[in-house]
Amino acid sequence: MKEIRLDGFTEALADSSNIVITNHTNPDGDAMGSALALAHVLKGLGKNVSVIVPNPYPKFLWHLQGNDAVMIYSNGKKLANQKIAEAQMLFHLDYNAYGRAADMEEALRNATGKKVMIDHHQQPEDWPDFMYSDTSMSSTCQMIYEFCEMYGWTGHLDKGSAECLYTGIVTDTGSFKYSATSSRTHEVAGKLLDLGVESQAVQNSIFDAQPIARLRLLGAMLDQLETNASGTIVLLYLSQSQCESLGYEKGITEGFVNYGLSIEGAQMTLFMREEEGIVKLSLRSKGIIDVNEIARASFNGGGHKNAAGGKLEMALPEALAYAKKVFEWV
Ligand code: 5GP
Ligand code: MN
Repeated sequence: MKEIRLDGFTEALADSSNIVITNHTNPDGDAMGSALALAHVLKGLGKNVSVIVPNPYPKFLWHLQGNDAVMIYSNGKKLANQKIAEAQMLFHLDYNAYGRAADMEEALRNATGKKVMIDHHQQPEDWPDFMYSDTSMSSTCQMIYEFCEMYGWTGHLDKGSAECLYTGIVTDTGSFKYSATSSRTHEVAGKLLDLGVESQAVQNSIFDAQPIARLRLLGAMLDQLETNASGTIVLLYLSQSQCESLGYEKGITEGFVNYGLSIEGAQMTLFMREEEGIVKLSLRSKGIIDVNEIARASFNGGGHKNAAGGKLEMALPEALAYAKKVFEWV
């Protein structure tokens, strides 16, 4: 599904000097890459830009250009609320529902600036003044490149901002592997390389600079994985006590869910991580199985057809039993 509603955007932007860019809770490579690259471009256009994200994000993203100026809402709301209230325009990147902004939700709902959504998730909410929504896109980072091209801004991208976009494309496509990777995705990636991005360096900073705790947690998760009788569904999980004893930190289990689908015959996988009486979960599927629908119907979440997430307000043992019931485990 594609919905583009940008009539009057250029005029609204011309009237906006203070701009806020936001993304979703637990920001990932695509959320941070798109926000930081767009911030750079808008600064190049002479705007005052603040990037405000709901909560902290993993260390492997801290080297991205512009990282030092990012405001983390959960670490200090006063100044962030002021910036949000004063903004004449707000960008909502890599999410399409207020609820995904977590603690920032209320401030964003009350904001009076023009709201611009750029996102590739399914079923966008209807509140934006301007919308660029396309579920066929590999990543919001690819969409930021397309957006820059639409408005003739690609000349404002430099090596650092191109690296931000490349990081988001690589993380959201699993290194150009997932089904939303199109020939255009490769073309855009090529243009970013032309801007000076060093592909191997970006891949190394994402995949080969992980704390040792990540491997210890991965080992524990793989050791206890379960499959249903036919081997089509794979259940992965880590308890809070395992996370604590093995050195869990935010974002460290990013990508763990994909191991479930690497098993021959696996069609769908669910990874659950327990944290303070709730379970955060990630769903992935192959082919026609729509985990966005499953996440919406049974796991208080959503996302894309083959990659979604959600949460359950229960402890891990209950969550495991619940998931087995949902999946008619045999
Ligand atoms: P992940 O499993 O990597 O956290 O998320 C997979 C996809 O589902 C991402 O596109 C993410 O934005 C979306 N997603 C993750 N958690 C939630 C959630 O709680 N609610 C909704 N609506 N989407 C989610
Ligand atoms: Mn994304």
